[in-house]
Amino acid sequence: MDYQRIRRRLLFGAGAAGLLGAAGLSGAVSHAAPATPAAVEPDIDSTAEWGARPPSIANPVIWGVPDKLIVHHTVSANTADFSRGQAHAHAHWVQDLHMDDNGWRDSGYHFIVSRGGWITEGATGSLTALVAGDHFVQGIHTAGQNSQAIGIANEGAYHDGDEPTAAQWETLVTLCAYACERYAIPSSEIYGHMDFGSTLCPGIIHDRLPRLRGEVEAARGL
Ligand SMILES: [Zn+2]
Repeated sequence: MDYQRIRRRLLFGAGAAGLLGAAGLSGAVSHAAPATPAAVEPDIDSTAEWGARPPSIANPVIWGVPDKLIVHHTVSANTADFSRGQAHAHAHWVQDLHMDDNGWRDSGYHFIVSRGGWITEGATGSLTALVAGDHFVQGIHTAGQNSQAIGIANEGAYHDGDEPTAAQWETLVTLCAYACERYAIPSSEIYGHMDFGSTLCPGIIHDRLPRLRGEVEAARGL
């Protein structure tokens, strides 16, 4: 953690500010996240864009930054519909499952990556928080980690031989890189649900975590 912050300070001090120009510096410099992220900001469809239900009670906000990302799969059907509409339909399916079947206040994840490579916001407020980089919504995705980890779910079931699509993987890398940048999380701090409990989640994606961490690190230009 300290290493990352020191490295950024060195980069910033080495003249990155001059190269990036005014646009890169328009944000608050006191921000927890770096003013000059190397990771690309992905398109994320907000809860308003996919028409989410409002949470049953306000989502608790935690001020400060999470210390890790935890990757999941949603165990939905491994659809061949790669459309944005399917990503939105799946986001509704997850939210309905979590609110109606589980009795939770909202979708338990912060973000979901569809098999077509679309990203939807999970719990309302997660996207605004991520862009700000100084707070996050309390998740409902991993026992014991919900007040310190961002939960990123992948549409589909990957515990039974199937694999995520190439588009899904690429988008997962991009989203993880961006989230790590905004919250100053080291790329090494990306885990799978099964690291923290007895579950098959996220299936084969867990086997690929070393690759994910490496690709996220590369996407960040680190
Ligand atoms: Zn999970």
